[in-house]
Amino acid sequence: ALQCGIVGLPNVGKSTLFNCLSNAKAQAANFPFCTIEPNIGIITVPDERLNKLAELVKPNRVVPNTIEIVDIAGLVKGASKGEGLGNQFLGNIRATNAIIHVLRCFDDGNVIHVDGSVDPIRDKEIIDTELQLKDLDTVEKRIQKVEKLAKTDKEAKKTFEILSVIKPHLESGQSVRSAALTEEDFDFIQDLGLLTQKPVMYVCNVDENSVINGNAYVDLVKEKVKGENAEVLIISAKIESEIAELESYEERQEFLSDLGLTESGVNKLILAAYRLLNLYTYFTSGVQEVRAWTITKGFTAPQAAGVIHTDFEKGFIRAEVIKYNDFITLGSENACKDAGKLGVEGKTYVVEDGDIMHFRFNV
Ligand code: GDP
Repeated sequence: ALQCGIVGLPNVGKSTLFNCLSNAKAQAANFPFCTIEPNIGIITVPDERLNKLAELVKPNRVVPNTIEIVDIAGLVKGASKGEGLGNQFLGNIRATNAIIHVLRCFDDGNVIHVDGSVDPIRDKEIIDTELQLKDLDTVEKRIQKVEKLAKTDKEAKKTFEILSVIKPHLESGQSVRSAALTEEDFDFIQDLGLLTQKPVMYVCNVDENSVINGNAYVDLVKEKVKGENAEVLIISAKIESEIAELESYEERQEFLSDLGLTESGVNKLILAAYRLLNLYTYFTSGVQEVRAWTITKGFTAPQAAGVIHTDFEKGFIRAEVIKYNDFITLGSENACKDAGKLGVEGKTYVVEDGDIMHFRFNV
């Protein structure tokens, strides 16, 4: 499953947020979350399109997309050198597909800051530096391995060239994701699992009075990450934990609107995490089941079929495709067929977000 890891210095509000996410299970039927390990939860991704399809098709079962959220504790200065639980922690990040970086943007004399003062920019740099140092280590090891081979082997040569761009970039205190490389280059070195290559978003954990307009700390963070093309979310973990304690949907909505909010921070966080993973959703639709499937942008029809079952990919013959809007407008698969809105596509078809797919395959 796809994973988002929550990182940040100790005491910035990571586990409070994680717990709010787990409480979302009790909060709203469309946000089931179950904790599978103390620090890993599976969360359902709400999708209006899935609900609309289900209303039309009335299947026995509706299956939404899910992602895993991992609370990664224990990162401190020196982690890349093995301080604290450093290496174990960094291994946990390696397994994730995207990073949610929580920054403390609230003042509270009762909550100790590990570095003595509230300073989200310094905090961010501490974490970034640890990740960059770890990546530098990985890159240097790989360079040693491919350097000689690069003279004779084409792949090794390409790896060597890409890493020769990345190394000085990391050494100057920047993250891999901002290196001057093509998307193809990034794909090529995917197997190194570089931590700072993963997409990132920032969560500013603010006090209750700053959830709408942010505060001076948030402004600093926004200014700092300007060039990073990363989303900055403003959330108050404290408010979220208060919301999580309310019993009914109505109570929670009232609480939110009293604060001038339309949506809980947990809700925003889940949707932003899904966006961060850069995924597409396609649907399968039948009387038994209406279901959302997760694919990566650019997947062809056979690759998309392979997400359901590897046999679907191997034996792929063709796909019948209905565009989501056509389905909703016309109301059923048969109506789409009659209107000529059911496309028959071959192996090279690139699946679009929202496609309703029916695969034909040999077994
Ligand atoms: P972690 O170490 O990053 O997982 O941080 P925790 O979630 O355990 O939070 C550390 C402390 O900060 C706890 O005492 C929380 O109650 C407190 N805390 C977390 N979020 C907020 C917040 O938004 N406002 C205030 N005032 N305290 C918070």
